[in-house]
Amino acid sequence: MAKILVTGGLGFIGSHTVVELINAGYEPVIVDNLSNSNPKILDQLGKIIGRKPAFYKLDLCSQADITELHDKEPELAGIIHFAASKAVGESVKEPLKYYQNNFFSLINLLEAYKGKKLNFVFSSSCTVYGQPDELPVTEKAPIKTATSPYGNTKQVSEEILRDVVASGSSNKIISLRYFNPVGAHSSALIGELPIGVPQNLVPFITQTAIGKRQKLTVFGDDYNTPDGSNVRDYIHVVDLAKAHVAALKYMESGVDFGGYDVFNIGTGRGSSVLEVIHAFEKTTGVKLNYEIGPRRGGDVEQVWGDVTKAAGQLHWKTELDVDAMMLTAWNWEKYIKDNPL
Ligand code: NAD
Repeated sequence: MAKILVTGGLGFIGSHTVVELINAGYEPVIVDNLSNSNPKILDQLGKIIGRKPAFYKLDLCSQADITELHDKEPELAGIIHFAASKAVGESVKEPLKYYQNNFFSLINLLEAYKGKKLNFVFSSSCTVYGQPDELPVTEKAPIKTATSPYGNTKQVSEEILRDVVASGSSNKIISLRYFNPVGAHSSALIGELPIGVPQNLVPFITQTAIGKRQKLTVFGDDYNTPDGSNVRDYIHVVDLAKAHVAALKYMESGVDFGGYDVFNIGTGRGSSVLEVIHAFEKTTGVKLNYEIGPRRGGDVEQVWGDVTKAAGQLHWKTELDVDAMMLTAWNWEKYIKDNPL
């Protein structure tokens, strides 16, 4: 079985991707420093898969740890690089933490596996587009000046990867620009585990519904959108996980794509914050305590992706709708209430 290194594999998207890699016949090898994840997710993965996947607790920013990783796993078919710091607000307050973690981990990894023929998938983000001039946003849209150090790390990381391929690297590289991943695995054994107050809408919804938070605030209902609240392209995390498998298969197929490419990974459809709240209430039957508050600084008004490139080239498209996203996120929230990790 082809071994795929999954950095950040105990995190939200990484853990779901580990399951989909197994389903597709790959052998995932997880690396995580547990800076934003819980080691018990490894046990949870074991319950889904039937055996615990290989795991190394290592920090990709540490040269010693990277050397250890390379010594133990010299031959890989691919790398999916999720490991990064990801909180936009925190990145504004602590830019050096973000530049250090997100750049050092990427550069160390590329350096360690330089000269190997492997397929590399990078976690990028629709944040690289800022507020696009045209919707849905395509991969050809101009990259706007980043509005946060986190966003800047994604833009510059993409440039680093493009430069590495242009220099004649033996690696093939694909950057996936994710829209807004939400939801959880249908088993309710893994899901998003925010540390502290959630920065994203859906975990805030489920934590409010379960009673961990008193009230959800909708940041503004006076945007130029159909109901006035922000619009995003929410994508089920299991669909997103499958996009990584599709990207690996695309690179393995031998198709000539120039060695580096980027793909939007979303549903191609925008949903407003209020629509998501109503979908949650409808699918779960739980009434949500929410209020309309002022706009939050830094939020783009609306963004959703044109995903025809991924459909055409990666032969991938989403299968799960907003109702499935809400139901699985809610089942996970209930699971961790009854089974604290
Ligand atoms: P996450 O925080 O749940 O997972 C990241 C994992 O990486 C964590 O388990 C953390 O412990 C680990 N990690 C961080 N730094 C590390 C290091 N130096 N060495 C080893 N492990 C390290 O985040 P996620 O939501 O699963 O996001 C995964 C990737 O997708 C990130 O690169 C993120 O920027 C990107 N992304 C996420 C979203 C989103 O909304 N969740 C949207 C777009 C892009």
